[in-house]
Amino acid sequence: MISITFKNVRLIDPLHATDITTDLVIREGIIQPLGSPFTQHVVEATGLIAAPGFWDTHVHFRDPGNPVAETRKTGAAAAAAAGFTHVVTMPNTSPAGDSVAWLEEQRLDATLPVSILPSACITQGRRGDTLADLKTLAKHGASCFTDDGSYVASDALMRAAMIEAKALNRTIFDHAVVPALAKDGVIRDCPAARTLDLPIFPAEAEIEAVRRDIALCRETGCRLVIQHISTAGAVALIRAAQAEHLPVTAEASPHHLALAAEDIPGDAPNWRMNPPLGNHEDVRAIRAAVLDNTLQLFATDHAPHTAESKARGFRHAPFGVIGLETAIGVTYKVMVLEEKMAIDHWLRRWTLGPAEILGLPPPSLSVGQIADLVLIDTYTPWKVDPQRFHSLSRNTPFDGWTLPARAVLTIAQGKLVYTAFS
Ligand SMILES: [Zn+2]
Repeated sequence: MISITFKNVRLIDPLHATDITTDLVIREGIIQPLGSPFTQHVVEATGLIAAPGFWDTHVHFRDPGNPVAETRKTGAAAAAAAGFTHVVTMPNTSPAGDSVAWLEEQRLDATLPVSILPSACITQGRRGDTLADLKTLAKHGASCFTDDGSYVASDALMRAAMIEAKALNRTIFDHAVVPALAKDGVIRDCPAARTLDLPIFPAEAEIEAVRRDIALCRETGCRLVIQHISTAGAVALIRAAQAEHLPVTAEASPHHLALAAEDIPGDAPNWRMNPPLGNHEDVRAIRAAVLDNTLQLFATDHAPHTAESKARGFRHAPFGVIGLETAIGVTYKVMVLEEKMAIDHWLRRWTLGPAEILGLPPPSLSVGQIADLVLIDTYTPWKVDPQRFHSLSRNTPFDGWTLPARAVLTIAQGKLVYTAFS
């Protein structure tokens, strides 16, 4: 457990609407009352922000199944270096996350620097034909349910899953893309799609799935999160559903907030993800929906792939981009600097929003609590160099970007798990 003092730090704790410059003392991993005597280890933190550790409801650690792309160990190290203390791992591993053994393997590794809150499959093997044993999975630590990577196409099955999840006080996260509409599409209509003559992935593939999911949400009352939303049409449906007081929101991922299909620089497989980048109008709609709290959480959809698999070009490479180590910088750039979002609201989308959606206690920097904390530097721009990532994979569209903010220190469960200070 760490004992450390951050001198003259800007402490922002959205839960208590705190935003003060103070000396923050942590002793034996516990947050001390303001005015407490300093510890021996003092960090001069003028200009740095101390906030609750970040939560990411959507990461792929490829473990078990593809340890060349990422492992739990390297994924968790990337999360810690990026300011995250809690991550929700997706169940589209090999084998899929539909068993108690899988959950325990994800959850009970005490050597990892951050807390893993594994999701579990909605359907057995993510095959979409038989419901998984949600009750047993919840009992053994499934934080939520999703078949991420696949849509649960059967209305009857999704209805049954929502009824059961509601009874278990769990949220359903859906990869809302109707396969029959997406077909073999890989990109939205845009100049790069036409130049490269790529199969088009229409916006309707997402919009129709969201329409169906909202209808089932209305019917069952189950908490629902649309994963990685990418279209203005789906955003409008969610806003209308919230006006009916339905418990639905969606994840805004950094790439869908920062990049548009029109920006795709030719045959660039690191710009290929599922759902694909929307056009400028979609990006504007997603940003507006983050600002007005229609979208209550950011999530990276950190999806590592080897350089070899991504070398197949836009047409054949696997879908997905990594996102943890650029998450703070990209979302700070687009939402705080460009869209003038208040910093405490930006922090909420990475902390209170995800925890609330998962039905878990709100993260905060309350006195007497064990420290889960990130120190953020918003004054020193840095250049993205994927070779320096802790992640095993390098598939980022932000290679070479200059970002305005980053995590410089992370404490998780009272332990120092990352520091950029020598
Ligand atoms: Zn997905």
